[in-house]
Amino acid sequence: MEVSMNSTLLSSSPETYWGQFEEISKYNTHLGIIERLWTAWYAWMQNDVLATGIMSFMMHELVYFGRSLPWIFIDSLGVLKNYKIQSNKIPSLREQWNCAKFVLLSHFTVELPQIWLFHPMAQFFGLSTSVPFPSVWTMAYQIAIFFVLEDTWHYFSHRALHWGPLYKAIHKIHHQYSAPFGMAAEYASPIEVMILGFGTVGCPILWCALTGDLHIFTMYVWIVLRLFQAIDAHSGYEFPWSLHHFLPFWAGADHHDLHHEKFIGNYSSSFRWWDYLLDTEYSPDAIKRRRENKASGAAKKAQ
Ligand SMILES: [Zn+2]
Ligand SMILES: [Zn+2]
Repeated sequence: MEVSMNSTLLSSSPETYWGQFEEISKYNTHLGIIERLWTAWYAWMQNDVLATGIMSFMMHELVYFGRSLPWIFIDSLGVLKNYKIQSNKIPSLREQWNCAKFVLLSHFTVELPQIWLFHPMAQFFGLSTSVPFPSVWTMAYQIAIFFVLEDTWHYFSHRALHWGPLYKAIHKIHHQYSAPFGMAAEYASPIEVMILGFGTVGCPILWCALTGDLHIFTMYVWIVLRLFQAIDAHSGYEFPWSLHHFLPFWAGADHHDLHHEKFIGNYSSSFRWWDYLLDTEYSPDAIKRRRENKASGAAKKAQ
């Protein structure tokens, strides 16, 4: 920690978290509130591996279920039925509960042990935990790069998972829901979580190994945004205000819902460019384009 703290003050180190927070706030007025909360957490925990581990796990649970909750309400109240993509397939509460149990079980048995490795690995590759945090600009451009890298990894590994033997052995579980809902985002085999999770965690680590410039806080913001992306893409709802109407290359639910319904095409996560370039896009437009190409090819042959 690069926080200036008077050693005599530290000797009367407060025992509670909020005591730490107050102490740090008093002498580090240049730090923002999140930076002070962050520093107090590490100071109070006195164990960086545990501090990062608990924070990562809690953040994942809060964001994952917190972001899924509005979709559960929307499904069970039926308030936005007109925007449901597969309007005849509203998931029941029982289905969502079964999904929640499966996801929770995998979080506690598969993810929790791995999360303990995160801090040592972050330290090994030189991720920073110190304050002040990087500027908003630095975080924004790094996160934009992670979105592009993760999407590329996701496209190719997800496409590979649709190869017969791998599909049967690993990916079939995720496709149990042909009409997905928010919480189904992480309903998958532990092996799949590891393979696809590498894109989310491995890409930033690789970036840091190459550039030596990444803060764990940037990584957290990235993971939160990636969770939002994954949950919303599984929501099953398409709105006139969905992001892809403003950013035409953004994938969203419009893109991924069809993947669950048809089991083919639309393999990428955040963007549409890989599916477009490699002709695996599944949309009414893409099907029409393919049909026209075929027809013009046949016409040429006939000439
Ligand atoms: Zn798939
Ligand atoms: Zn999916």
